[in-house]
Amino acid sequence: MNMLTKLWLVRRLNKQFYGWDKDTLQKHQEQRVSWILKHAAEQSPYYNRLLAGPQQFSLTAVPLMDKATMMEHFNQLNTAGLSKDELMEFLNNQDPRGTPGLYGGQFSVGLSSGTSGNKGLTLLAQDERQLYGCLLWARNGIPRQVKKPYRVLFAIRTNNPAYMEVGSFGVKLVYVDYTRSPEALVELINEKKLNILAGPPSLLAMLAARRDLIRPPIETIIAYAEVLESKTKTSLEETFGAPVVQIYQGAEGFIGSTCRAGNMHINEDIVLVEEQEAGDSLGHAKKVVLTDLYRTTQPIIRYALNDLLEIDHRGCTCGSCFRVIKKIHGRADDIFHLAGPDGKVRFLFPDYVQRSIIRASDDILEYQAIQHALGSIEIRLVVKEGAGLADIQNAVCDNLQQWAQKIGGQLGRVSFNTKLPERNPQSNKLIRVVRRF
Ligand SMILES: [Zn+2]
Repeated sequence: MNMLTKLWLVRRLNKQFYGWDKDTLQKHQEQRVSWILKHAAEQSPYYNRLLAGPQQFSLTAVPLMDKATMMEHFNQLNTAGLSKDELMEFLNNQDPRGTPGLYGGQFSVGLSSGTSGNKGLTLLAQDERQLYGCLLWARNGIPRQVKKPYRVLFAIRTNNPAYMEVGSFGVKLVYVDYTRSPEALVELINEKKLNILAGPPSLLAMLAARRDLIRPPIETIIAYAEVLESKTKTSLEETFGAPVVQIYQGAEGFIGSTCRAGNMHINEDIVLVEEQEAGDSLGHAKKVVLTDLYRTTQPIIRYALNDLLEIDHRGCTCGSCFRVIKKIHGRADDIFHLAGPDGKVRFLFPDYVQRSIIRASDDILEYQAIQHALGSIEIRLVVKEGAGLADIQNAVCDNLQQWAQKIGGQLGRVSFNTKLPERNPQSNKLIRVVRRF
């Protein structure tokens, strides 16, 4: 893809985001779905078996995919005939702190963290990386008035050549992994005069705490990979005097981008998102199933994400008809299980646990709720000096109790301590509501 094609594509992506109506989008999705299914049936041995037969392919006829199944059938599933073992060996030989090279000079290989230890491989061919780069450039959410060139501190668990594609638009991405100390990051920001900070909210908050040491003006902050609480967002905006935008992307694709009105939309021309009932009896958190409308090397078809999303169907003032992600609620794996009086389990969603804590007091600095077993919840709370810890703990308990009552479940034992939150050992993410069984 030459530069002119890339620029044309970026313009098209912008036009689609703001200019399409629902009908155009629906037609496009239908066309892409049938193309992607036909391609998978022809080129992927796994889907060939699954979709064989004379019937018209329909998306809902395709069984759901999850990470474990994808990894189990990886060799038959990908359309490039690549083997999981060889790709793993290739990754093991790469510098863990650098950007990995291309497998066979052609394919970028990524390894997503598995919370239960099952890591997922992602595979992109050159044209898929280039599309990704154009998408990232077109929909990074950086306000137009921010002067180019962008110099970005790009903190991510492991790098992937796909991200670096954005470099062809003149963006300078300075990649760092999560193991760098905040002091080292500040030094890097100053030395390279970085004006955009991109990373998970917990890392951005650490940088905000060192705002006085950061010399270049920060013009935009891009958050991803962890739930962004509104309190953290406001505090980052105030500390840096810059807008905070979110992108929602994972190994499965570039799912959401922030529009000019500040809302995060699903990139519906690129990924098709199906909402699935998650059992949130009090709110609107849903599980989501994703189909990538363009990826062919490793087809992503009806892939069940672990995230809980709340989608706003009311539309957005920016003019885009793409659905708005009102909130990312956390991970489906972290829904607390409470015992009901009838012996059946009731589900307490991460967002309610989170709200129970943050609404208890403005003096909470750090927190985490961990459910170790049915009837056993640990709450870690670090509060400002001089704040009444016992009162705050009582308020948290009362709030949790109210939510538990609403869903008809028993909280069981809630124990408090003042330890700092623990990061997920596999992904290094700060997940504030965790279920460990
Ligand atoms: Zn919008």
